[in-house]
Amino acid sequence: MQTHSHFAIAIDGPAASGKSTIAKCLARELGLVMVNSGAMYRAVTWKILQMGLDPHDTAAIVAALPTLPLTCGVNGRYSTVAMDGKVLDEELRETSVNQAVSIVAAIPAVREKLVQLQRDYLQHTSVVMEGRDIGSIVFPDTPYKIYVDASEEVRAARRSAEGVTDSVAARDKADSNRNNSPLMVADGAVVLDNSDHTVASAVAAALDILRGQGLEVRD
Ligand code: C5P
Repeated sequence: MQTHSHFAIAIDGPAASGKSTIAKCLARELGLVMVNSGAMYRAVTWKILQMGLDPHDTAAIVAALPTLPLTCGVNGRYSTVAMDGKVLDEELRETSVNQAVSIVAAIPAVREKLVQLQRDYLQHTSVVMEGRDIGSIVFPDTPYKIYVDASEEVRAARRSAEGVTDSVAARDKADSNRNNSPLMVADGAVVLDNSDHTVASAVAAALDILRGQGLEVRD
């Protein structure tokens, strides 16, 4: 799967475990691009809600998929997702998107399309990619895999401190129990418990794990 010189660091974990923050810091530290795969699932969900489709109407979503004007890119160190050429940002965190995204993300055709777009990044750059199935499905061959976890209390508190209405427990349950690419600790991944870390200590712990997995990291 990793046929070129670019490589991927896979950061998976449940909602609000702190994996985005860790992935961003790793990207900065290592000079890589951070790819937020959840933003892609959110963008598709936002668009189908805009189109007036029911997130449970799998047939209608599958029919609409090839026509979605979705493009994925990079701005500086971070991935971007755009619809109709407009980069999406705050729209992706709307409550309606939070509520529907796990339903849409469970549709195999949606996953197939987005996994391909995620793998395409390696044609251009090495990445730190965060999500749910990056180490298990998107880049199963990468040696660099971390599963970031945190207690349910810590995760719920993080989301409410951000002022976001989001039932992280419900999303995690749906993400963990789906048949297709469920949230799991991938083969070879090391678990980083981020319940009690500061950002700096979590990033230091992640760099230690990556060193242990053979990544050359400057001290
Ligand atoms: O990472 P974030 O919380 O923004 O992801 C939103 C949702 O997208 C997740 O709850 C999950 O349903 C879906 N997702 C996924 N696979 C990924 C990334 C996100 O199914 N690799």
